Amino acid sequence: VSGAAGLPLPGMPAPAADELSLPFWEGLAAGEIRAPRCTACGRPHFPVLPACPFCGGREREWASVGEEARVFSWIVVRRGVAPGVPVPYTVVLAEFPGGVRIPGNLDGEAALRADAPLRAAVATRDGVDVVVYRAVADRG
Ligand SMILES: [Zn+2]
Repeated sequence: VSGAAGLPLPGMPAPAADELSLPFWEGLAAGEIRAPRCTACGRPHFPVLPACPFCGGREREWASVGEEARVFSWIVVRRGVAPGVPVPYTVVLAEFPGGVRIPGNLDGEAALRADAPLRAAVATRDGVDVVVYRAVADRG
C-alpha cells in the first residue's frame, strides 16, 4: 500500500509469528495474503490450526486468497489497545471467495455495510506487515 495510509497503526504491538502461522507472515512479506487449505478436504480456513476444522486433516498448503473480498463484519475501535495507538480505527472481518474470513484494518474512512466489496492489500511499517482493506465503489 502506498501513500500516507497510516497503517499499520503506530504504537500497535507487533504480531508474533509461530511455527504454524509463519507461512501467513511470509506471505504478507511477499505482498500476498495467504490462507491454509487442507490437502485432505480441500477447504481453506483461517486462522491456521493444527488440524483442519472441517475434517481433522493435519496436512495443509498455503495459497493466496486474492485481493477481492466482502465485508462480513466490522467494529470501530474508539479506545486504544496500547499507549499511542491512534483512535478511532476500524477492524474488518472480510470474507474471501471460498468462504475464508480474515481480519484486517480498514484503510481510510468508509460507511461499511455487510457484503460491501473490499480490496485487500498489505501495508508495512517498520518491518511489520498487516492486512488492510479498502472500500470499493459498489456498482452492483
Ligand atoms: Zn479438511
